[in-house]
Amino acid sequence: MIGAGTMGAGIAQVLAQAGITVMLCDVDDGRLARGMESISKNLDRAVCKGSRSAESAAESFSAIRTTVRSEDLAGCGLVIEAATERWEIKREIFRSLDRILGPEAILASNTSSISIDRLAAETGRPERVAGMHFFNPVPVMTLIELVRGARTSEETCRRIQELAARLGKTAVEVRDAPGFVSNRVLMPLINEAAYAVMEGVATPEAVDEIFRLGMAHPMGPLALADLIGLDVCQDILRVIEEGLGDPKFHPCPLLTRMVQEGRLGRKSGEGFYRYE
Ligand code: NAD
Repeated sequence: MIGAGTMGAGIAQVLAQAGITVMLCDVDDGRLARGMESISKNLDRAVCKGSRSAESAAESFSAIRTTVRSEDLAGCGLVIEAATERWEIKREIFRSLDRILGPEAILASNTSSISIDRLAAETGRPERVAGMHFFNPVPVMTLIELVRGARTSEETCRRIQELAARLGKTAVEVRDAPGFVSNRVLMPLINEAAYAVMEGVATPEAVDEIFRLGMAHPMGPLALADLIGLDVCQDILRVIEEGLGDPKFHPCPLLTRMVQEGRLGRKSGEGFYRYE
């Protein structure tokens, strides 16, 4: 597992819960410690709720080892990359893992918007590169968007499908395209909801209630945007806008202003809503 942030820690946890030994790699010990702390808290919560025994939680926790050296991943059969959403960072990770890993190993990215074909082209194993797009929070959400690049092999997709089933998740296959399916459809909804607020058509509460009661969404689009992070939403919209060349994906000025003001959603304590 590359990256011990929000997604990397969650993915490491579900892998360990499925009995898989995980090597979790990040750039420094502080980030690794924070990732392990969040896994430990999640497992403790599951024990308190009675959904897991204390022994099995301890077993899962001890199945995760940490390292700051990507060379320590040399023996892995699969590496899932969940590092920061920047092309230069991911390109470097894919190049170096391609040198380090054995020839049969699969390289998967949890990217929300970066092209799998572009990442695959940085390696000598494009048939063993795919997108494994998990959803936040990983231990709860059961979907994996399995992104099949132009050169991803049948065998790679089959192995990822098998792993998804072992994790208790469903992998739904899509082709490589900007924002894949999930964000290409979700982001315009969030963006349009922000326009409705900006134009004074409705309050954030009213917009979200319409989606909860009228469309049976468990959470309205603006509460969801706060959960994802408004900066992340803005970045994803820009990548899709550039990739498809369609101005309908241009971020709403209200979203841009909120990001400039540091109102990023839950993680900053304020977005469309305030958080304690
Ligand atoms: P995050 O910022 O919480 O974590 C990213 C981690 O990657 C950090 O700990 C950082 O130190 C680490 N990192 C950076 N460069 C690295 C390197 N060279 N080697 C090892 N580790 C490195 O980000 P996140 O929210 O966990 O997102 C990670 C990926 O998952 C992104 O590609 C994002 O688009 C995707 N994603 C995020 C969400 C979400 O809701 N946050 C949902 C689906 C997919």
